[in-house]
Amino acid sequence: MKIQTIEAIPVRIPLKPERRMISALGRHEVSEFVLVRVRTDDGVPGVGEATVTPCWSGETVWGARAIIEHVFRPALIGVDPRDHVEVDRRLDAVAVDNWFAKSAIEMACWDIAGRAAGLPVYELLGGACRSLTIRSRFSLGAYAPEVAAERARALTAAGFNTIKVKVGTDPVEDVRRVRAVREAIGPDVVLTVDANGGWDEPAALSCLAQLENCRLTLVEQPLPRKNYSGLKRVRAITGQSILADESCFDEVEAHELIDQGCCDALSLYPGKQGGIVKARRIAELAARHELPCTIGSNLEWDVASAAMLHLIVSTPNMQVELFPGDCLGPSYHEFSIARNPLIIDGPNTTLPNAPGLGVDVDWDLVERHRIDRL
Ligand SMILES: [Mg+2]
Repeated sequence: MKIQTIEAIPVRIPLKPERRMISALGRHEVSEFVLVRVRTDDGVPGVGEATVTPCWSGETVWGARAIIEHVFRPALIGVDPRDHVEVDRRLDAVAVDNWFAKSAIEMACWDIAGRAAGLPVYELLGGACRSLTIRSRFSLGAYAPEVAAERARALTAAGFNTIKVKVGTDPVEDVRRVRAVREAIGPDVVLTVDANGGWDEPAALSCLAQLENCRLTLVEQPLPRKNYSGLKRVRAITGQSILADESCFDEVEAHELIDQGCCDALSLYPGKQGGIVKARRIAELAARHELPCTIGSNLEWDVASAAMLHLIVSTPNMQVELFPGDCLGPSYHEFSIARNPLIIDGPNTTLPNAPGLGVDVDWDLVERHRIDRL
């Protein structure tokens, strides 16, 4: 089987008004994705999704489409999509970084491999080591404290037992928001915060000292991504458990975090890590150092969310029971462009037991939302 064509289609999908995200990175009201369609000489198709956010990974739909069609496609024509080592090798040989674009192609190749074998991707990855239904936390935007508190109350009533609150926008408001949410949800619901690198060291130390009695289970990415020594100090001084997200794109960075003792857990996902295989490799590296991993999110649509679920289900060290992650991306968006959307019921997302990634895209709907022919 050989890759014959690779097509990259940019689309734009609005978020539901009540789920629009505010974080240290700004407002996220509309998602832009590149859907990747890989065709083979055997006629087995595969789909991938690049969930790009310029202020997060630096990738745009226009850049991702260009590199996929002009750099990655020529490197991959004629390659067997089931040869994941070779696909990865060629992607890395022609470009550094471009994690989400690479991951879109890689997940499409896994989709093809699964469809060709008649097996879900997680079976090809060694089989399920946990349930196909994954429980997520809810990630609450950096809303005004009273708005955040009211939404947190509604979410716990809807069955969420872990709430993550975005901080890193303004230290005074951050403290007020987290305190308001803790008061609203009571003492038993797990509460975490995510600064998306929006605090500097003094702000992180000050905010976390003020939040001491809010009993935070995890503090995610308090400092900017490359500040490893600062992260180590914040962890040591505050005694808080640190979850590294933006600080960990590749294995070198994972080693740095481990060697310096910067964190208590890693947030991984196929998009950020440049593919399912690379994410698994970091999860396995972390396991050797007894560092648990969980799933991160960039508000994916169904295709990339399915790839996340296959990673979680097949990788023992993706310890979502210990530290729930977020596989709720599709539920943030106003509609799905899958014929068989992932089933999301409150905090639970269920991976279908179907060949490949298990998601069939409605390409007619995609055509209506593509933004390169407007
Ligand atoms: Mg994060």
